[in-house]
Amino acid sequence: MEVTRRQALTAAAGAAVGAAGAVGGVRLKEHLDESTPLPFYGSPVSAVRPDRTPPSAASASVVWGGAGGAGGAGGAGGAGGAGGGADQRRVALTFDDGPHPDWTPRVLAALAAQDVPATFFCLGRNVRDHGGLHRESVGRHELANHTFEHPDLGRLDWSQCRDEIARTTRLMEDTYGATPTLFRPPYGHLGGASLLAAAEAGLTTVLWSAQAREDLVSGRPDGIVDDIASQVRPGSIVLMHDTGSQDRLVTIDRLPAIIRRLRDDGYGFVTVSDLLAGTRASATTPSHG
Ligand SMILES: [Zn+2]
Repeated sequence: MEVTRRQALTAAAGAAVGAAGAVGGVRLKEHLDESTPLPFYGSPVSAVRPDRTPPSAASASVVWGGAGGAGGAGGAGGAGGAGGGADQRRVALTFDDGPHPDWTPRVLAALAAQDVPATFFCLGRNVRDHGGLHRESVGRHELANHTFEHPDLGRLDWSQCRDEIARTTRLMEDTYGATPTLFRPPYGHLGGASLLAAAEAGLTTVLWSAQAREDLVSGRPDGIVDDIASQVRPGSIVLMHDTGSQDRLVTIDRLPAIIRRLRDDGYGFVTVSDLLAGTRASATTPSHG
């Protein structure tokens, strides 16, 4: 089902208006059709603070991958083509929505068995309920912010986005003694308000450039290994989940095989922050004497 970008934006604004009744202090129509302008300030798509005060950040950082990967330094770098990152063959595995007792311990065991670091985009509510599952992860894996309740941020205004992000960061600091530096919006839905809120919280917004597509391999679960391997390029950030619907077990069950396959393909594993540190290093390398 195709939805145009404009329809999606309108739907998001309409839903937020319906939920809140008012946005930015101005009461709006229940439904915004395509010809109705979105409110200038205060809607989920606005990257301007509702009260028009200056943002506390001068820029936002959004990444889909690292050096050599789709959407990585190759796009930003310009001159020089492949550059220094393309031969690194590094990949970052990421696991969303945990920690949860059903699968997180299995993921951690599989990673430990092959000495692989990963990045976990944690939900605040799961850190609250099951935070101890990552007690040994600090310093080994990267723990990052995936909001508290997993809302669709495309439907939330700036202050709601801010609250989701801040609550989660506070709880993760209290639980793990470390402040997350990365943020992933649920569903990859990113509006102006969430972009602004993440930037003001000092977080890099991390999407992905490869993902486990369990729906494509139903009936032939071993196909998930090929599915992931076929998408991965140097610098890829791979989306997986360490809790969720049963079909995702296809990936969890085959995580050791996925890791072996990527190793056989010449890849080394890093956390997302380490992957991005490589991006920055190559991006700032002077290209002219
Ligand atoms: Zn999620």
